[in-house]
Amino acid sequence: MAQQEDVFKKIISHCKEYGFVFPSSDIYDGLGAVYDYGQNGVELKNNIKQYWWQSMVLLHENIVGIDSAIFMHPTIWKASGHVDAFNDPLIDNKDSKKRYRADVLIEDQIAKYEDKIAKEVAKAAKRFGESFDEAQFRATNARVLEIQAKCDALHERFAKALNDGNLDEVKQIIVDEEIVCPISGTRNWTDVRQFNLMFKTEMGSTADGASTIYLRPETAQGIFVNYLNVQKTGRMKLPFGIAQIGKAFRNEIVARQFIFRMREFEQMEMQFFVQPGTELEWFASWKEQRLKWHKALGMGDENYRFHDHEKLAHYANAASDIEFRMPFGFKEVEGIHSRTDFDLSQHEKYSGKNIKYFDPERNENYVPYVIETSIGVDRMFLSVMCHSYEEEKLENGETRAVLKLPAALAPTKLAVLPLVRKDGLPEKAREIMDNLKFHFNCKYEEKDSIGKRYRRQDALGTPFCITVDHETLTDNCVTLRDRDTMEQTRVSIDALRGLIEDKVSITSLLKKLV
Ligand code: ATP
Repeated sequence: MAQQEDVFKKIISHCKEYGFVFPSSDIYDGLGAVYDYGQNGVELKNNIKQYWWQSMVLLHENIVGIDSAIFMHPTIWKASGHVDAFNDPLIDNKDSKKRYRADVLIEDQIAKYEDKIAKEVAKAAKRFGESFDEAQFRATNARVLEIQAKCDALHERFAKALNDGNLDEVKQIIVDEEIVCPISGTRNWTDVRQFNLMFKTEMGSTADGASTIYLRPETAQGIFVNYLNVQKTGRMKLPFGIAQIGKAFRNEIVARQFIFRMREFEQMEMQFFVQPGTELEWFASWKEQRLKWHKALGMGDENYRFHDHEKLAHYANAASDIEFRMPFGFKEVEGIHSRTDFDLSQHEKYSGKNIKYFDPERNENYVPYVIETSIGVDRMFLSVMCHSYEEEKLENGETRAVLKLPAALAPTKLAVLPLVRKDGLPEKAREIMDNLKFHFNCKYEEKDSIGKRYRRQDALGTPFCITVDHETLTDNCVTLRDRDTMEQTRVSIDALRGLIEDKVSITSLLKKLV
């Protein structure tokens, strides 16, 4: 675990050192859980967004995009339930004065039980060697069964307390489980209270009668209130989807783990409108489609899992998360929710407008049901970074830090390096670059030795480098170096585009989805 924490710290400093992510307001010592993306981070982030957007809007004839405003009519948040129910249960430790999410403390306790079981399994696997039957061991080992029973009971009790909104019971669970504050090590807890996560501000001058408005905590509502505008002007028929990428804001109580939990972040959401009664089929289909999107990046199928929700949000009749293995465990990256007709019906009620869909085939009006896929750009960014970062021991004893980014997401696809800064090599390198820059992102680098320049490109995740040397001027060939294998091959300049473009394009990923 300590080792994993070290890795995570290294990733955070790597992000800063190489222009991916900076703490916001850095020269003023930062602002809690707010971050800025640097020159390389923004490219990676844009590539993630492009991959998502194109997979939705280009690959589905019945999905279109919108870009709605962050500020919205305040009644929208009343209708959606966010004013009354977008809360996290918080608890303070009286000794350390640290604040925690009570639900997260309990979830961590459940994870501890699961870890204990995993350790027992690993120990037994070692002892029994090849003849080990894990399923049988889990079903029969007394120690495992005992821990599993405790874990299941806790799970059940916790789910009930949350579903009932019973905050006293949530506190009692923390007391009964003897959960301690990781800082003070004590069990001196306050009561559990609800805390609303929405940021408020004012619109208009006070003299005019300013009204309180909220910074949106999700982009989804901008889609719901526009669904009929889009349906009518786009002549869309059910089932159809609306996609949107944009900022969201949440006043998170405990904002830790770098860009995993931020107060200002970006979401990529798609609301898919379907006929009532077909929603669970679509829910299953979107779960599958979204997992495929993740897996196409080649970051290891074993690093993903679904987590089905027991406590459903007030609007949902089915919900599942896609979790990715981060250095700090499996964590939610995306949520897929069957939101029923809750949101649209609420907006109909609160706005007083008829927003029913007219179904020409059935010749009737009704409120569609909705399946939502909601993924955080920043969390996705973090999972890509965590998976890609490696420190490799080389044959000569040196260590290289390399970002093995999926090539289509890499900020720079090709670094163009003249061997020396004279003899016409820089001019030749520029000429190559001027031809290729229209097709993918190229960077020219002439400072430092070739070895150092390769290392720097490895650290930035650039999948290919080419070196222009004296022979290039006569044979029209360059040395092409592969980031992952470090293999170098001599190739003709005319062949470069063909060799590289296909491997680094978003299209190469999209083709895996169809
Ligand atoms: P969590 O349980 O981690 O607070 P959530 O279930 O509230 O997340 P959703 O409301 O389903 O999250 O939001 C959809 C997606 O938006 C999440 O899967 C995540 O990727 C992203 N997201 C949510 N909150 C944050 C945040 N504070 N910082 C960064 N990304 C976030």
